[in-house]
Amino acid sequence: MSFASDVRGELGRVPVTDGCCARSELTAALLCCGGIAWRGRNRYALTITAAEASTVRRYFGLLKQFYGVVGQIRTLSGDALNNLTRYQLAVPEAESLALLQSLDLLEEGALFGLRPIPAEETVRFSCCKKSFVRAAFLMCGAVNHPEKGYHIELAVSNEALADFIARQASFFEINMRKSARKTKPVLYLKRAEEISDLLSLLGASSAMLAFENIRVKKEVSNRVNRQLNCDSSNINRVMNAAENQIRDIRYIDEELGLDKLPAPLREMAFTRANNPEMPLGELGELMTPPLGKSGVSARLRRLSDIADKLRVNCPSGMNCALRM
Ligand SMILES: [Zn+2]
Repeated sequence: MSFASDVRGELGRVPVTDGCCARSELTAALLCCGGIAWRGRNRYALTITAAEASTVRRYFGLLKQFYGVVGQIRTLSGDALNNLTRYQLAVPEAESLALLQSLDLLEEGALFGLRPIPAEETVRFSCCKKSFVRAAFLMCGAVNHPEKGYHIELAVSNEALADFIARQASFFEINMRKSARKTKPVLYLKRAEEISDLLSLLGASSAMLAFENIRVKKEVSNRVNRQLNCDSSNINRVMNAAENQIRDIRYIDEELGLDKLPAPLREMAFTRANNPEMPLGELGELMTPPLGKSGVSARLRRLSDIADKLRVNCPSGMNCALRM
């Protein structure tokens, strides 16, 4: 089972108690699956087709409970569906016109006598707005498993309907973005918090909790990895610096002899050479008198300047190297 089908399964079980919400869901279901076909004057074929049997059973139940209409459920499969199975609920043709009337989807003079988008009355209450988006998701929604990246979308059949759905979601401050795939508008969300908000708004609480669990785990492990990378690059930097210092000290010793260095630099050279991995602050504590971090780094810099001078073969010899 994919995460998307878990979500659809859970949404399919969200109870509908009010007629206003049943009307809103059925309207969304019919429009979003393109389930209204014109068969001639005042004749329509109504079907609701979905990937999940539970979705179709949901609308079978709502149709019967709130409209007294007994639909017919059938299974579709075959080459045209790439051998996928789809489930379809068909409304008896004799009842189609009355149902469209009850759903307020008929409009005198409009193309095929149908409203392109639902009447505002259909989504009058916030419960109905929520119901509309839920049914739209059941019909044309998809969501990635959170392990694979954050993405939820609704691929809608036309612009006007996409905008209508987006408007209902935005009532709950969920602002879906719109792009196009082939010619179809797609509403989507990419941010984890927004996806989580949408799942919980529609009533998929278990899926939302599963989503949040994975999200938190991912964030913690990202943070730990970032911290580890950062720590190891710091350690590398410190180690490289110490290696260079020791190389310089050895070079001075070979070319000049450490005993030729002024006493404070000589002490620094010996202390660093004997403690190659020690942080600057601790090196300072070993000096007499103790020295702060900036004092230590000034002396180490001085040593490396002397080594550089020696390397370029300063013509006035070792005194030149020391006179800096
Ligand atoms: Zn309602």
